[in-house]
Amino acid sequence: MSTGAIDLHTHSSVSDGTESPAELVHAAVAAGLGTIALTDHDSTAGWREAAAAASDTGLTVLPGMELSTNYGPASVHILAYLFDPADETMVRETARIRDGRLHRAERIVERIAVDYPITWDEVLAQSVDGGTIGRPHIADALVARGHVSDRSAAFARMLHWRSAYYEKYYAPSPLAGVRMIVAAGGVPVLAHPGTRGREWVIDEKTIRALADAGLFGLEIHHRDNTQSGKERLFELAAQFGLVVTGSSDYHGEGKPNRLAENTTTPEVLASIIETGTGSRPF
Ligand code: AMP
Ligand code: FE
Ligand code: FE
Ligand code: ZN
Repeated sequence: MSTGAIDLHTHSSVSDGTESPAELVHAAVAAGLGTIALTDHDSTAGWREAAAAASDTGLTVLPGMELSTNYGPASVHILAYLFDPADETMVRETARIRDGRLHRAERIVERIAVDYPITWDEVLAQSVDGGTIGRPHIADALVARGHVSDRSAAFARMLHWRSAYYEKYYAPSPLAGVRMIVAAGGVPVLAHPGTRGREWVIDEKTIRALADAGLFGLEIHHRDNTQSGKERLFELAAQFGLVVTGSSDYHGEGKPNRLAENTTTPEVLASIIETGTGSRPF
């Protein structure tokens, strides 16, 4: 295992990052990191390219994904590491989520286009073939048209979940998600779960159920978790024996988040690698 910073949450252009998997790997090498996890939304399509780019670089790449789940009105993200990418349930369910995302994005674009001229083709032009479509691609098309200055402005205005243009997409429950990841030999970690402070969207009873189903950790060191949210998460991690991770949620130029702005300890990385049985680090 290499030394250097450990960042277990990054996105490539296979989902809503702005760099190809190879460019992302090269950016991590240039920044002197030791390990990254590639965690594109609901897709493993970048694994092969990342593995090829990482060979002979000394960078370790953990194959991963950020799985979308729905918890009532809230969208809950679960990081999954080292699962079997050919697991049938995983393949079927992520295909269903990506398909739901695609049609939902088309409907959001239809509504936005009434007020701000924009076409579906312009949105597709902002994404890679077969990639996971999300609101960031709509944001990029709005930026290209000059309707807004950057992704953040698009999210603040047209793409906010409270906006009249918004709609959700199909995703399994967090419990079904954790069970599916574990069944595929993977290691599930709740992504940025403390964004709303101490009155938290996931209650203690549900966390207990997720822990019983094999939830392995909580991503506590993340810029979107509030201070009071972090305090509550540390209590929950201790209570349920969950590991603590930290990561950047890097999206290239799509977000201000910089590689390794938050990191995970070598001990926690080792425990994740020891636990995952569906695939191996590149
Ligand atoms: P979606 O997957 O379509 O629900 O869109 C959510 C994605 O948009 C998240 O994965 C974030 O990476 C991205 N996102 C959310 N808020 C912002 C923001 N203010 N600026 C840039 N990207 C954002
Ligand atoms: Fe994202
Ligand atoms: Fe996320
Ligand atoms: Zn993410």
